[in-house]
Amino acid sequence: MTVAILLENVDKTYNQVNVVDNLSFSLESGEMFGLLGPNGAGKSTTIRMLITLTKPTKGKVEVAGFDVTRNQAQVKQNIGVVLQQISVDNDLTVWENMEFHGRMHHIREPERGTLITQWLDYVQLGDRQKSLVKTLSGGMKRRLQIARALLHQPKILFLDEPTVGLDPQNRRRLWEIIKDLNGQGMTILITTHYMEEVEFLCDRIGIMDNGKLIEMGTLSQLRSKYGQGLLIKQQGDRIDSQFFPTLTEANQFLDSLGEKTGMMVRESNLEDIFVELTGKQLD
Ligand code: ADP
Repeated sequence: MTVAILLENVDKTYNQVNVVDNLSFSLESGEMFGLLGPNGAGKSTTIRMLITLTKPTKGKVEVAGFDVTRNQAQVKQNIGVVLQQISVDNDLTVWENMEFHGRMHHIREPERGTLITQWLDYVQLGDRQKSLVKTLSGGMKRRLQIARALLHQPKILFLDEPTVGLDPQNRRRLWEIIKDLNGQGMTILITTHYMEEVEFLCDRIGIMDNGKLIEMGTLSQLRSKYGQGLLIKQQGDRIDSQFFPTLTEANQFLDSLGEKTGMMVRESNLEDIFVELTGKQLD
């Protein structure tokens, strides 16, 4: 297995504050990784360093084996990027947006046209190639961004909150595309606030808070560590929760109590672990 992404003791300092603080982790080639954290945790800054938009203040950052500071061009050649803001040009057609990106990456004809057709078909926009982008729905624009990010055949794809603002159907459609790309061997790093998205898509999950990685593992590793069962106690507006190693143990504890008003037991999920770790609800 080769290492696709490597961060070693990375700091990013703004105004004397480490917004990314001694961050170290690595992803193997082919992994589907979800980076979570409350707002301000440092996720976007981490992605911006990985995609060469900002330089690390300290430490080593390598993407596809290339240093992000010394080998920017090689890094860019190996990555596809879909950032939060929809960055496609509304006044150009679907095809023109793809064409422009292809030229920027020096992809020559006839390969350029072949790849544009291939990726537009892949994201089901083949029949919209002559449409102006401003006439597309939000879901279509997002799929166009993905097709464009894939045009130069990158090995690693960065998706920063790719399904924000999409309706459930479009979100599912995007999940299928993301899963399929990962199935074809692409390494994918995704940030999102949707827990079910991470549970559905990701092999491994990293949780950041205050610039640090505070937890990392598969969902089942995290559930084993924090507890598979959860007791929820509601008193007025306040909700407390308590983890138990298993659902059975949580149920046994509940059964042993005399007063059970406002209490229930269920299986723990990623959001419970997130709240336990960061002390914050997702927004
Ligand atoms: P997240 O993506 O997890 O919400 P960010 O990486 O966007 O977090 O931000 C982490 C912290 O860094 C925040 O406190 C933010 O205000 C700060 N920050 C991000 N970019 C800059 C910048 N260019 N200049 C100063 N502070 C910044």
